[in-house]
Amino acid sequence: MSKVKYYYDPDTLSYRKIEPKKSRRYRNIALFIAGSALFGLFSLILLLNTNMVNTPRELSLNREVKNYELQFELLDKKMQQIEEVLANIEDRDNNIYRLYFEANPIPEEQRRAGFGGINRYKSLEGFNNSEMVIATTKRLDIIKKQMAIQSKSLEEIALLAKEKEKLLAAIPAIQPINNSELTRMASGYGYRSDPFTKARKMHRGMDFTAPRGTPIYASGDGKVTRADNNSSGYGKHIRIDHGYGYMSLYAHLSKYNVNKGQKVKRGDLIGFVGSTGRSEAPHLHYEVFKDKERINPINFYYGSLSLKEFENMLKYANQENQSLD
Ligand SMILES: [Zn+2]
Repeated sequence: MSKVKYYYDPDTLSYRKIEPKKSRRYRNIALFIAGSALFGLFSLILLLNTNMVNTPRELSLNREVKNYELQFELLDKKMQQIEEVLANIEDRDNNIYRLYFEANPIPEEQRRAGFGGINRYKSLEGFNNSEMVIATTKRLDIIKKQMAIQSKSLEEIALLAKEKEKLLAAIPAIQPINNSELTRMASGYGYRSDPFTKARKMHRGMDFTAPRGTPIYASGDGKVTRADNNSSGYGKHIRIDHGYGYMSLYAHLSKYNVNKGQKVKRGDLIGFVGSTGRSEAPHLHYEVFKDKERINPINFYYGSLSLKEFENMLKYANQENQSLD
């Protein structure tokens, strides 16, 4: 209820009630409402045009953008780590694995080449952060390509390793007679005096003196191509084809333990020492061929002999004595 106002009437000497004019009262109310509305509108326009105050939706969007930026930074760091690890693998691939298996290193340009031709990032253009998104997508694409190349390279290496394993198992690389059963290394590869003619003659194998019946072992994996007495001088002899151009020959045997065509593994018992053919005393005459050429077998005994044994063998093998043929 509005206040009731009075005024003093000197004529009647009494207080009289002031009756407000109705029209004025309504005008005041209308003015007040209009003023308030104008002020409100003005404030609203002012508020919406400043950054000082955000709507709840703006606030949540801002938070989201901040969060995206943080996540993007983390992703960037992770990507950098992946690039570093990949670079390290590639380095080992080129400088250790591929080198070891005699494969050519993959050139840097090939590993890190981007994609030419059509613009594959067109769909990412026209946004506020297009540059950043396109750069990151490009980096990821290159990583993907690097991984594909690396994976292919490792596949190739796995194949080469398998081949190498086969090659290492194949080449004649052990002494064909057990050291404990060996009387001595009678004669090595080189010029020796012939036991029959006493003339100086090239002896293209190694002679191992051992009692008749001493076991003879295959010096590498392969296939028996001959086990017969049909080659002049060698007597009963065995030839093993190891593949990769390698062949080994075991001569003057007393007995065979394998047949022609049989597959053998390194260390398999293939026959026994004798003195058949052009031989002066029981011994094994052993030859190694590479691409049909006889080579010095002494270069192939890695692994089966101790250093001392190898030194002893070298000493005996290099003595210019008489071979047993
Ligand atoms: Zn010989």
